[in-house]
Amino acid sequence: MVATIMSGKLLSDELNEEMKLEVIKLKEKNITPGLVVVLVGEDTASQTYVRNKEKRAKTLGIHSVVEKYPEKMTEIELLRVIDRLNKDDHFHGILVQLPLPKHIDSTKILNAIRPEKDVDGFHPINMGKLVIGQPDRIPCTPYGIMKLLQRYEIDIEGKNAVVIGRSNIVGKPMAQLLLMKNATVTIAHSKTKNLAAVAKEADILIVAIGRGHMITKDFVKPGAVVIDVGMNRDENGKLIGDVKSDEVQEVAGYLTPVPKGVGPMTITMLMYQTIESAKELLN
Ligand code: NAP
Repeated sequence: MVATIMSGKLLSDELNEEMKLEVIKLKEKNITPGLVVVLVGEDTASQTYVRNKEKRAKTLGIHSVVEKYPEKMTEIELLRVIDRLNKDDHFHGILVQLPLPKHIDSTKILNAIRPEKDVDGFHPINMGKLVIGQPDRIPCTPYGIMKLLQRYEIDIEGKNAVVIGRSNIVGKPMAQLLLMKNATVTIAHSKTKNLAAVAKEADILIVAIGRGHMITKDFVKPGAVVIDVGMNRDENGKLIGDVKSDEVQEVAGYLTPVPKGVGPMTITMLMYQTIESAKELLN
């Protein structure tokens, strides 16, 4: 068997075209979706992520601003910034780029964002809504994965889904979204015994660990849908996933590549939720 490759890049391109039209329609009604990204410090990777988000937002016609602050900024100063942005009607989405400098409590900062403007979906209110089956703003990576599953017409109901990883931004919300679609969900993590055997039960296997090429074909049931969330660098600096794709693609039915799989969908869903947030003004 050779797995069908699920292209996040292609779906992302399609959604971008749809979003451009949405933005045009909103502008005709005098609403310009606005996204502000707050970047504190000089972290090189964060700067690249922020630049990519800004570029994508501009391509779609979203009003996009990056507010940069020095590493030594205090927690109180950052809370004041969030308070100002919460009240600023130009912005429908606020994103604080993580990680923040160590002297700032990122939970405190994320919790200060107005839930309606929390386009990352990390606020406890949005997390809570997800858990009670009333999703509002949804963490972008699992949301993007659900769109990919939908695009490739993957049947979820009644299927065994195994999510490896239990982070608040990927694993937990992912499990919840699959549960809402009536999968039977198992969450595995670093203390799980016999991980390969657990993973091999999965019709849908979501891997969000952060260990390059850890998941070999021994973890995969023939024909399974395998979603590789991992973004790791190998010894040559090349971007690789958590899944050993060359051998897993001989066993799996579907597989997301790295790059051009889950990654492009994450940023796409950020834009999507910014536009959705702006659309709420019409109601
Ligand atoms: P994280 O917060 O570090 O969580 C990793 C999870 O993997 C934890 O739950 C951990 O278990 C589990 N784990 C670690 N080693 C394990 C092992 N040997 N066996 C089983 N489980 C193990 O990471 P994250 O933020 O969820 O991200 C995971 C990966 O996805 C990273 O590579 C990250 O770069 C990538 N990512 C990609 C995107 C994208 O857009 N493509 C977005 C977000 C993240 P414990 O809880 O027991 O420690």
